[in-house]
Amino acid sequence: MYNLSVVLEDSARTAPDRPALVLGETSLTYAEVDAAACRVAHLLVELGVEPGGRVALSCPNLPQFPIVYFGILKAGAVVVPLNVLNKPREITYYLDDTDAAVAFCFEGTEELPIGRHVVEGAAAAARPPQIVLITADPSAESPYEGVPTLAGAVAERPGTFPTMQRAETDTAVVLYTSGTTGRPKGAELSHSNQLMNALTCNRLFDSRPGEDTHLVVLPLFHTFGATVNMNAGFSMGATLVMLPRFEPEQALELLLRHRVSVFAGVPTMWWALLRLLTGGAAAEGLAEHLRLGVSGGAPLPVEILRGVKEHLGISIMEGYGLSETSPVASFSRRESPRPGSIGLPVWGVEMDLIDPADPDWARVGGVDEIGEIIVRGHNVMTGYLGRPEETAAVLRDGWFRTGDLGRRDADGFYWVVDRSKDMIVRGGYNVYPREVEEVLLTHEQISLAAVVGVPHERLGEEVVAHLILVDGATATAEELKAWAKEQMADYKYPREIVLAESLPMTSTGKILKRELR
Ligand code: ATP
Repeated sequence: MYNLSVVLEDSARTAPDRPALVLGETSLTYAEVDAAACRVAHLLVELGVEPGGRVALSCPNLPQFPIVYFGILKAGAVVVPLNVLNKPREITYYLDDTDAAVAFCFEGTEELPIGRHVVEGAAAAARPPQIVLITADPSAESPYEGVPTLAGAVAERPGTFPTMQRAETDTAVVLYTSGTTGRPKGAELSHSNQLMNALTCNRLFDSRPGEDTHLVVLPLFHTFGATVNMNAGFSMGATLVMLPRFEPEQALELLLRHRVSVFAGVPTMWWALLRLLTGGAAAEGLAEHLRLGVSGGAPLPVEILRGVKEHLGISIMEGYGLSETSPVASFSRRESPRPGSIGLPVWGVEMDLIDPADPDWARVGGVDEIGEIIVRGHNVMTGYLGRPEETAAVLRDGWFRTGDLGRRDADGFYWVVDRSKDMIVRGGYNVYPREVEEVLLTHEQISLAAVVGVPHERLGEEVVAHLILVDGATATAEELKAWAKEQMADYKYPREIVLAESLPMTSTGKILKRELR
C-alpha cells in the first residue's frame, strides 16, 4: 500500500519540531504542516470527495501549497496542480477535463487575480466544483458568495487523520503539459512514480536527514520543484525556504540569510544569479553552505556551468526529464562530470534512442548517432487522463517517447541535442538551435542566447538569434553576425541577430521560443 503523503508524515513523526516551511518571518514545523494537511483532508471528506476523486489546486509558492497538496493526498484524492497564470477559459477546460469536485485557489493580487479567474472559470464548468479560497491573511473574509476561505473551512477540524491507503499504481497527481502541441493533456502520475522519483533525487544528491535547507524558487505546481524541492526535501526533513516569485537579488539574499544548502533552478535562474555575482554582488560565505546546485527543465549552457563553478565553487548537477517522467529520467553525476551532458539514466530507469520517423520505433544504435530519446522505468506516467489514443502514441511496451532529440556517447552518457519541435530545417540541412546557442555563448559579450527558426520562402526556415549582451557591451548585431559566420558552418550561423533587453519566459523560467518565432 502506498501514499505519497508518507514523505511528509514520516518527517512529522521523526522530527516534528524541525522547521519545514519558511516564508518571510513565518516558519512552520513538520508537525504543524502535517496537522494543517490533516485538517484539509477532513474538509475534503466532509465535502464528499472520494478516494481517487480529483481536486484542483492553483496557488503560488506559499505554505498553503504543500499543506493543501498533502491534505488532498491524505484523503486518498488526486492532486491537479494548475498554473497560477491560467485564465478563466483555461480553468474551465482543466476542471471539465478532470471533473474536479473541489478547487482550492489562492486569492491572488490585483495584478494576478488567481481567485477571480478560478471562480469565473468554475462557473462555466460542466460540473462546477466547490471552491475553497486560500487567503494570505487567515482572518480575511471571502469576497465570493458561497466560497469559504481555507482558514474558515478548516477551523476546529482535528489535526490528525487516518491516511487513505492507495495502491502503488493509483494516480497521485495529474500534471498538465503546456499544450504546445494540441490541447493540454493531463499526465497521470502514480504514488509509486512520485515516491520513487523523490527517493531517487535524495540518493543522487547525497541528502542526509535534517541537514538541508532548500531555497524554493521553482513553482511547486510544476513537476521539477514539486519533486526536487518538495517531495525529496520533505522526505529528508529539509527546511524549505519559499520565494513566491524569483528575483535574483532576493534569491541571493535568502541564500545567504538562511544558509541555504540546496538550490535548484532552471538555466535562466542560474544565469540571472551568475549575472548578479559577476556584476559584483556580495556573496561572502555562500560557498561555505551551498553544497548542491541543480539545473533542469531546459539545456544548461556550458558557459553558465563554468561560470557557477568559478564564482560559487560548485558543479551544477544537471537533470533531464519531463512532466510525464515524474520528472527525473537522467542526471549528471558528481563522480563523472561531463559538462553539457544530461548524464546517465537514474537507477531503475532505462533510456534509448529511436528513429523519430520510423513507425516501429526502430532503435538508433551508433555512438553519437542522433535519435529521439525514449524512457522506460518506475518514473513513466501511467497515461494521459481520458486519452487512450494520445497515450498509445507515446507509450509502447513501457517505453515513453519524449519528443527530444539526443545522442549517446561511447561511455553511455546522454546528450540532449534539441527538442524535435525546435529543430530548424534550413535549405534541407538540420540546424540544432542549442548547438548554435552554445557557440554564441562563447563570445565574451554575449550573455544569453535563444536561437529559433522563422519561415523563409526559399529555404523553408531561416536561423535567427535573440541575444542579451553583457553589461557595457559594445558589439553591434552586424559585428556579432560576422563573428558567428567565422565560427560555424554556413548553413548554421544566424542570418539575423536581434539584440534584446529581456526574453519572453514561461512561469517556470524557460525561454518561450514559440513567442520568439
Ligand atoms: P510541453 O508540454 O510543451 O512539453 P514543458 O516544456 O513545460 O511543456 P516539461 O515537462 O516541463 O514540459 O518539460 C520537459 C522538457 O524540458 C523536455 O522534453 C526537454 O525538452 C526539456 N528539458 C528538460 N530537462 C532538460 C535538460 N537537462 N536539457 C535539455 N532539455 C531539457
